[in-house]
Amino acid sequence: MSRDQRVEDNWALLHAAEISGDKSLAVLFNLVPEFEGAALRQYWFMLEGLKEVYRELRSRNIPFHITVGDPAGNISEYIRKNRCGALVTDFDPLKIKRRWKKEVAGSIDTAFIEVDAHNIVPSRKVSGKQEYAAYTIRPKIEKVLDSFLTDFPEPGKKQQIDLPPVDWDKLYDNLKVDRSVGPVEWLKPGAAAAKKSIGRFIEERIERYPGESNDPNKKAVSDISPYLHFGQISAQRIALMVREADISPDAREAYLEELIIRRELSDNYCLYNDNYDSTAGFPDWAIKTLGEHKKDKREFNYSGEEFENARTHDPLWNAAQREMVTRGKMHGYMRMYWAKKILEWTSGPEEAFEIALHLNDRYELDGRDPNGYAGIAWAVGGVHDRAWKEREIFGKIRYMNYNGCRRKFNVDEYIDRYQD
Ligand SMILES: Cc1cc2nc3c(=O)[nH]c(=O)nc-3n(C[C@H](O)[C@H](O)[C@H](O)COP(=O)(O)OP(=O)(O)OC[C@H]3O[C@@H](n4cnc5c(N)ncnc54)[C@H](O)[C@@H]3O)c2cc1C
Repeated sequence: MSRDQRVEDNWALLHAAEISGDKSLAVLFNLVPEFEGAALRQYWFMLEGLKEVYRELRSRNIPFHITVGDPAGNISEYIRKNRCGALVTDFDPLKIKRRWKKEVAGSIDTAFIEVDAHNIVPSRKVSGKQEYAAYTIRPKIEKVLDSFLTDFPEPGKKQQIDLPPVDWDKLYDNLKVDRSVGPVEWLKPGAAAAKKSIGRFIEERIERYPGESNDPNKKAVSDISPYLHFGQISAQRIALMVREADISPDAREAYLEELIIRRELSDNYCLYNDNYDSTAGFPDWAIKTLGEHKKDKREFNYSGEEFENARTHDPLWNAAQREMVTRGKMHGYMRMYWAKKILEWTSGPEEAFEIALHLNDRYELDGRDPNGYAGIAWAVGGVHDRAWKEREIFGKIRYMNYNGCRRKFNVDEYIDRYQD
């Protein structure tokens, strides 16, 4: 178990259970004590969710083992020691996960099966290449969606065997992470909280989603991305709930467009573009236009530290930064503005990309996600977008400004909420 950290609605676990037949089945999670800039905040969300995985597995008589350290070494040792007949894992398009899997595959001689438990239409199935934009992946997903958007079977129970305990305190102690970015209080981790949260969203807010999801003052978004990131809830389960809910077609369509099409487009980007984590992943037209404007005069030029401490001249940008730092989740509309202003106020797109990614992944509960790489690449480098009217610094990259925000929502209210 790696990306999809849940017991219910998990195709990888279901497949493992199926092939295990009447033999034993165990779940192994390998914890790396430091991971790509994650702080205590993200580890906390993950470990608290894993506690629930442990309890859920236990109720089904399935042992849960957590090893700590090098994935390839630990997993191959586990396979040898326990004489496993097969290893099943979930899917992740990120390079580090793909590298780990390659190393594991090279160090074991049992069957090793990858199941895409994250996407509704498996990423490798929906397309064999990098898709240009939402309009190119949408028909490919829609064509096969009905055959994948099916209900899940129950994972079932095993015979009672030895169920080892997990020393959670020791796992926390062993983390080599920045503890100054800590847990948040407003969002409870774990599969049960995720289910409750999405249920409430569908009941109380989804109807307002089409009209108000771009207004950061209105609580009209689902706040489900941290749960999706750690696989504490399945996107397929959410889509089934939304499909069956008694809501307007507009609300259903608007939400499923983001949950399915946009989200699965990000996985496609990271799977087929090895440069998803740098400006080299941008389309040719964007690299060209940004290059032509690299020497344009910048009215403001901030350091990473100034951005991090929300010390720009723009109270709206500073409020967005503070929302992310304190809450661990910036509103989606503000993420676009936030990243585009970093492009405008740094020496060039390379520095902008680096600063945006660093801050995003340090503070956001849903950081280090394909959606984050694709979102920043969209804002700074036109990925999945088209060329717009040419202007200073941005070239043909889509521009956003303060007055545009003012026309869309009550900027002062948002600034007030995230005061220094
Ligand atoms: C600069 C920038 C950085 C971003 N960083 C991240 C990140 O680190 N992690 C992350 O998960 N998302 C990121 N996003 C995408 C998006 O902003 C978040 O997924 C969304 O704000 C999460 O909040 P929500 O669950 O309340 O969204 P809702 O609006 O309720 O949407 C429901 C779900 O649909 C998907 N979704 C919504 N908007 C997008 C989008 N633009 N692209 C892809 N999928 C989408 C997400 O899975 C989301 O959880 C980023 C976007 C930008 C522009």
